[in-house]
Amino acid sequence: MVAEASPQNPAHRHRPTVSFELMPPRRPDAAPKFWETARRLVATHPDFVSVTYGAGGGDRATARRVVATLLEGTPVLPIAHLTCVGASREDVSEVIDDFLEAGVRSFLALRGDPPKDQPDWRPPAEGVHSSIELVHLLREVENRRCAQDPSAALRGAARPLTIAVATFTNGNPAAGTTRTQEVHRLLEKQEAGASFAITQLFYEADSYTDFVAEARAAGVTIPILAGLLPTTEPQRLRRVEELTGVVPPRHLLEALDALPDPEAQHAYGIAYSAELAQRVLDAGAPGLHVYTFNKYRPALDLLEGVNLGGTTSSDDGVDLARRPWVPGIPSDAPLSRTGTTT
Ligand SMILES: Cc1cc2nc3c(=O)[nH]c(=O)nc-3n(C[C@H](O)[C@H](O)[C@H](O)COP(=O)(O)OP(=O)(O)OC[C@H]3O[C@@H](n4cnc5c(N)ncnc54)[C@H](O)[C@@H]3O)c2cc1C
Repeated sequence: MVAEASPQNPAHRHRPTVSFELMPPRRPDAAPKFWETARRLVATHPDFVSVTYGAGGGDRATARRVVATLLEGTPVLPIAHLTCVGASREDVSEVIDDFLEAGVRSFLALRGDPPKDQPDWRPPAEGVHSSIELVHLLREVENRRCAQDPSAALRGAARPLTIAVATFTNGNPAAGTTRTQEVHRLLEKQEAGASFAITQLFYEADSYTDFVAEARAAGVTIPILAGLLPTTEPQRLRRVEELTGVVPPRHLLEALDALPDPEAQHAYGIAYSAELAQRVLDAGAPGLHVYTFNKYRPALDLLEGVNLGGTTSSDDGVDLARRPWVPGIPSDAPLSRTGTTT
C-alpha cells in the first residue's frame, strides 16, 4: 500500500516528483523550438519527461526519435506514451518492439481516442482495444524478447518495464465515463500490472482529492500523480476542452478574459494553478506532472510557485544539440526563464 503523504506522515518529508509532458514536433520546422523547450525543461532535472503519441500512430517515427534522443542524449528518464486504438495487434507489437529495441523501459499505456469525424469508424477485429489489453501486450512482447535472447532477459531482470496508465478524476468525457467507473477502471489497470497512474488535468483540488479517496477505498494502491495545466491562456483552456472534454471553470475563463494582456494573464494563471498545485500537494499528491503544450515558461513558473523549481545550469549534461538530426540548438544558450518556444 502506498501511503498518501500528509503533514503527519513521514512521506511528506520527501520532495514531490516533478515531470513534464512533451508533444513531438508535428513538422520539421517546429523541431528547433521543441528541442529548446525540451532542453530547458530537462535542465531542471525532472523525475521524468513523458512524450505523447498520436492515436493511430501517425507520429510514430517522430515520437520514437524524440524518446530515443532524450534517452541517449540527456540524463532524464523518458516515458513513451503508446496508444492502440485502431491499430492491429501486429502493428502495436511492432511499435513496442521498436521502443524496446531503442532501450525504452518506461511506457504510458493508453487506448487513445477513436476518430471523431468518422461516424462509420469501427475498430479492427484483430486490434488492441483498450489500455488494459495494451498493458498485457507490452508484457507479452517483453517476455517474448526475453525468451528469445538471454541478454535481453538479463537486461529485463535488471531494468524491468514500468507501465503507467491514465486516469480521469471527473470521469472521462471522451469515453462517456463517470468518476466511479474510472475508479473501477483504474483498479483493473492496477490488476493488469500498472505501476502508477497520471491524472487527466483538472481545475479544482477536490476533483483530485475526492477521486484519490474513492480510489483508495476501492483498493487502488498505486501512486496517483496529479496532472496539471498551467492556466495562463484562455484560448488554451478552450482548446483543451475541445480535445479532452474537460470544462474549465467559468470564473477562471472570465477572469483571464478580463485581463488586458498576455503578461497579466500569465501572472493570474500561474497564481491560480500554483494554488491548485499546492492544495493537491498538501493533500498528499506524490508529485506534479505538468502538461506543457511545449512551452517551458508557464511550466517552470508554475513549479516556482510551489517551490519546486529545478536548478538550471549550463553544465547540465544535456547534449540535445549534438544529436545529428536535431537542427541547430545553441547548447550554450543561457537558461533564462523568459520566452516560450512554440
Ligand atoms: C495522462 C494522459 C496522457 C494521454 N496521452 C495521450 C497520448 O499520448 N495520445 C493520445 O492519443 N491520447 C492520450 N490521452 C487520452 C486517452 O487516450 C483518452 O482519454 C482515451 O479516451 C482513454 O484512454 P485510456 O487509456 O484510459 O483508455 P481505456 O482504459 O482503454 O478506457 C477507455 C474507455 O473504454 C471503455 N472500456 C474499455 N474497456 C473497458 C472495460 N473492460 N470496462 C469498462 N470500460 C471499458 C471505458 O469507457 C473506458 O473509459 C492521454 C490521457 C491522459 C490522462
